[in-house]
Amino acid sequence: MDFSFSEEDRKFHQEVLEFIKKELPKNWTGTGLLQEAKDGEEWEFARGMLRKVGDKGWHSLSWPKEYGGQDSATKQFILSDEMYYHELPGVDIQGALMCAPTLIQYGSEPQKKNFLPKIARGEQVWCQGFSEPGAGSDLAAVSTRAVDKGDHFIVDGQKVWSTGAMHADWTFILARTDPEAPKHKGISFLLVDLKSPGVEVRFLPNIVGTYCEIFFDNLVVPRENLVGKQNDGWRVTGAVLGYERSGIHRIAAARRNLTRLIEFAKETERNGKPLFADPVIRNRLAQLYVEAEAARILAHRIVWMQGAGKAVDHEASMSRVFGAEFQQRVAQAGLQITGAFGQLDEGCKWAPLSGFFQRQYFYAAAATVGAGTAEIQRNIIALRGLGLPRG
Ligand SMILES: Cc1cc2nc3c(=O)[nH]c(=O)nc-3n(C[C@H](O)[C@H](O)[C@H](O)COP(=O)(O)OP(=O)(O)OC[C@H]3O[C@@H](n4cnc5c(N)ncnc54)[C@H](O)[C@@H]3O)c2cc1C
Repeated sequence: MDFSFSEEDRKFHQEVLEFIKKELPKNWTGTGLLQEAKDGEEWEFARGMLRKVGDKGWHSLSWPKEYGGQDSATKQFILSDEMYYHELPGVDIQGALMCAPTLIQYGSEPQKKNFLPKIARGEQVWCQGFSEPGAGSDLAAVSTRAVDKGDHFIVDGQKVWSTGAMHADWTFILARTDPEAPKHKGISFLLVDLKSPGVEVRFLPNIVGTYCEIFFDNLVVPRENLVGKQNDGWRVTGAVLGYERSGIHRIAAARRNLTRLIEFAKETERNGKPLFADPVIRNRLAQLYVEAEAARILAHRIVWMQGAGKAVDHEASMSRVFGAEFQQRVAQAGLQITGAFGQLDEGCKWAPLSGFFQRQYFYAAAATVGAGTAEIQRNIIALRGLGLPRG
């Protein structure tokens, strides 16, 4: 394995850092995750950044050259790593990094022609419509129905936990097209215009973020929006989940949080001594620093595999579960090291770092659930990595 960056990649890295320096507003406290931007100014800024990243041609960095990309998983890694580290929204996980590569792999030529340029320019916002009240870890249990009517499907059902659906233009969904077939066999993968009659998006208030329910009532989906073969949507889903789990965003954001915590330990005195002088705190920070490096290398290995044309499988789950739990360990350390006042929220004059780690603590709880829970990732590693028989 050779993880060193080429001269071209190093130049690109510099260009990304300059872009971030120019675009990141001073005292920005919004999210670096486009899909989690809150309504109003935060979303307007994030959407503007989506277009600016599109103007640079950076949404398609990892796509094959024939689709306008640069075939460079490494540049994509560099961009995502720095953008999330600096909390500048604009990297399009669900559109450019999940939907587009899936369309490149399984989509029809008209689908590629229609959607890829819009995603590349940052004009179209996508969300994922997989989970349902009765289908999460057991995703193949989806019960949303799509009835074949020849040139279109009639879709009825409900999706849940769709991140950012309230801002999205389109969603990719799984729907059951053959209720008689074994559950993994009767599913189809459809692209749905969220502005169509028969679609209702409802915001789902919760402690960590911006999730929605999506309801389909007698929705007409043209056959041309079927991706892959009818009843073969499970194969397409596998590709989407692989792209989703190989992301670096949680790891980059957690590294940034760790940097913030180290700064806090340098600047803060407790009982007349700087925090960094406390051996327990020093040890804790050093341990997290080791984990940050390990997490980054696990993510980088995936990029290296993609670049070398190797199939990524349980390696994505390894990176995902380690990265998610690392994010939680940093948040937990942050809450403990900032002390009792660390539990106060922003707006309170006594809240250290304006309550940053209190919010991160709640937010990080979801890390081991989204994109497949930690238990499911470990099941994948046991089965496909270790070769253990199913339990
Ligand atoms: C931050 C976040 C963002 C999300 N964004 C989206 C999105 O954009 N689109 C979307 O479609 N969904 C999204 N989800 C939903 C997410 O994919 C599901 O929550 C997840 O797959 C778990 O499903 P569930 O919530 O139904 O839990 P369940 O599947 O009911 O699991 C409950 C518990 O049982 C455990 N469990 C279940 N099966 C097994 C097993 N076989 N072995 C061991 N343990 C098991 C789980 O690990 C978990 O602890 C998001 C969730 C979160 C938290």
